Amino acid sequence: MLTDAQIDRYSRQIILPEMGGIGQERLLAASVALLAEVDDLSPMLEYLGGAGVGRIYLECFAEADALATIRAEMAQLNPDVRIEQAAQAQRCDLLMVIAGSNRVIEAARQANRRGNFNRVILARLGEPFLLSMQSSRPPCLACANPAILAPIQRGASAVPIAALAAAEALRLLIANAPPAWRMIEFNGWQARSTPGASAAGPGCPVCLAPACRL
Ligand SMILES: [Zn+2]
Repeated sequence: MLTDAQIDRYSRQIILPEMGGIGQERLLAASVALLAEVDDLSPMLEYLGGAGVGRIYLECFAEADALATIRAEMAQLNPDVRIEQAAQAQRCDLLMVIAGSNRVIEAARQANRRGNFNRVILARLGEPFLLSMQSSRPPCLACANPAILAPIQRGASAVPIAALAAAEALRLLIANAPPAWRMIEFNGWQARSTPGASAAGPGCPVCLAPACRL
């Protein structure tokens, strides 16, 4: 049940037919593991935290005291949101990877092995620019396109891909009937959407499907 303060705080999104009070309650009950470089964190936290995602687990490669700063800023932005370290996450509704560096890609590979998440948004912020949206526990993050976890160099189209990832994250979290796995490729000019795989892909170098399912 939303409190009066929450109905007031989220009034602008509760009136959206796609969201409603039920969608807002889902967001407040949701947990997201967010892997990103520090520079990519702020817009994500502002968007997800402002929308009322209840618990956000961070892997951000920041100094130890950065977490305290992020917590303090979130308390100002939205006291409904709790910020924790990714290592404390047992299981999350959504794994969100904003991949702008090779260490974020490596963290995504490790998360891929742990598999303690139900849905995935992975934004690749370098060539090839990819946005993967998986609405159920995938066979692995890379089965649809192994390039998604290839070495990366952040590119000029990073910002629009990251912004789209944030909006898709909310859609996945409130979805009643989750949409199918989709992949968007963006070449800086045009976006192309393709369906993702629903089973482990043969020849995937990450999960070595089908011999080694995650
Ligand atoms: Zn795979």
